[in-house]
Amino acid sequence: MPINKPEKLDKPESCDNVKVVVRCRPLNEREKATGYKMAVNVDEMRGTITVHKTDSSNEPPKTFTFDTVFGPESKQLDVYNLTARPIIDSVLEGYNGTIFAYGQTGTGKTFTMEGVRAVPELRGIIPNSFAHIFGHIAKAEGDTRFLVRVSYLEIYNEEVRDLLGKDQTQRLEVKERPDVGVYIKDLSAYVVNNADDMDRIMTLGHKNRSVGATNMNEHSSRSHAIFTITIECSEKGVDGNMHVRMGKLHLVDLAGSERQAKTGATGQRLKEATKINLSLSTLGNVISALVDGKSTHVPYRNSKLTRLLQDSLGGNSKTMMCANIGPADYNYDETISTLRYANRAKNIKNKARINEDPKDALLRQFQKEIEELKKKLEEGEEISGSETSESEEEDEDDDGEIGEDGEKRKKRRDQAGKKKVSPDKMVEMQAKIEEERKALETKLDMEEEERNKARAELEKREKDLLKAQQEHQSLLEKLSALEKKVIVGGVDLLAKAEEQEKLLEESNMELEERRKRAEQLRKELEEKEQERLDIEEKYTSLQEEAQGKTKKLKKVWTMLMAAKSEAVAMS
Ligand code: ADP
Ligand code: MG
Repeated sequence: MPINKPEKLDKPESCDNVKVVVRCRPLNEREKATGYKMAVNVDEMRGTITVHKTDSSNEPPKTFTFDTVFGPESKQLDVYNLTARPIIDSVLEGYNGTIFAYGQTGTGKTFTMEGVRAVPELRGIIPNSFAHIFGHIAKAEGDTRFLVRVSYLEIYNEEVRDLLGKDQTQRLEVKERPDVGVYIKDLSAYVVNNADDMDRIMTLGHKNRSVGATNMNEHSSRSHAIFTITIECSEKGVDGNMHVRMGKLHLVDLAGSERQAKTGATGQRLKEATKINLSLSTLGNVISALVDGKSTHVPYRNSKLTRLLQDSLGGNSKTMMCANIGPADYNYDETISTLRYANRAKNIKNKARINEDPKDALLRQFQKEIEELKKKLEEGEEISGSETSESEEEDEDDDGEIGEDGEKRKKRRDQAGKKKVSPDKMVEMQAKIEEERKALETKLDMEEEERNKARAELEKREKDLLKAQQEHQSLLEKLSALEKKVIVGGVDLLAKAEEQEKLLEESNMELEERRKRAEQLRKELEEKEQERLDIEEKYTSLQEEAQGKTKKLKKVWTMLMAAKSEAVAMS
């Protein structure tokens, strides 16, 4: 069932709060060996996280409530299906979506976003979204066209680096245009056709991420990584025209949120920390400004991160934040600070709408080029007529441009004796040249001079023909490259993605089952509780009745006794 249906074109914007979920990782071996205790309790049923002190202080435990919470045993596939799936579904409909991982270093941000890519069950949100997206395209109807592009960047020290760029020393500029909004100049975008392509691109980005990093762990904890997937989808609308919808999905692995005081940074490290904190603290300030209801100014422009993600917070996007925490008591302060941050983010209101026919869409342009190339190929190539002697040299780098220029050029060429020749005709012409050549060489009664002239003539025709054939071939290649970029709905996409998608769907169904079972259990519990209350009530009334009867009995008894003693006294 494709989600992209024409009648949804004028769906109004939806007002949604930023969804916030919390995930607590398990104690790791080192923490267990050191003897750290669990300070965090996760109640997945109620959606609460309780943090308590493990020392002798009498501080009461603190409890926070969220949309969804995940305990140390949570599964990657459940995290995907419960939190990311609805956002990716929206992006496939043409909404913008953002998923952030926020938290102290070592709490599982990268595990949640990327996971262990080689193990299907341990894959994180990014690879699972690949499988989900291409699974959706494979199921779409045949008249739908898709264009999927990805880019991958990093913000380190308030500098933007293109993780898919050729030159890793280059720093990119953040720009703004009224028609397309904030964007990064010269950021490379790769068109991808299947989940394997996306996977390869991630690997390339990773390699580049570590370029120039002396310590990879340190680097990744200090930089923000944004993986962006842009999905364009074109379909005929109710008006009979083609409409393009474009959803942009930002998958953000933020720098570690730990405060610099704890890391004891100085010099260059401190400068870095300040800059990293500039993006993170600006993120905090943006959130505060958005939720306090008093601010008239939201400081998006104060950092690269918040500028780039302006739409994701308080704007046109469906946004989810995953706050990652560690369970051990020595992280108590950081955990509380992350939960407070996340708690505030819950109140951000976004207004998401479907992006229809946006200015920066490429799909329509690609489709137009494909049509033109096809037409050109059908018409065939221009070859000089044998009557022309002069050959007109033109620059042949035009890529399917039409209009007045093309028309004029055609006229000029016609005048020069050129004519269009179909590919079949070209084969015929080739055979004819061969034939004529053979005939020429076997002809005996001919002057050498005349023969040479005829040879040269044949050679020229052959050269012209070869040129036309080469041109035809290059147009064919151009068409095939373009066609590869645009994916037709319903095509069978790589088995690998399908496997992952199957895994995701199965786990989603299983989740649904579990949800139903839990609901059933809850109902049963409620019924039992009701029964118990009924019985109690009955019992209470019975008890009251009994009490009443006992009282009466007692009274009768007392009266009886009194009468008896009276009788005894009288006798
Ligand atoms: P961060 O990106 O926040 O710095 P990582 O994702 O690198 O943290 O996680 C730190 C370590 O903890 C990694 O070895 C990771 O595999 C492990 N880890 C994190 N979350 C989980 C989880 N939910 N279950 C199992 N291991 C986890
Ligand atoms: Mg990380």
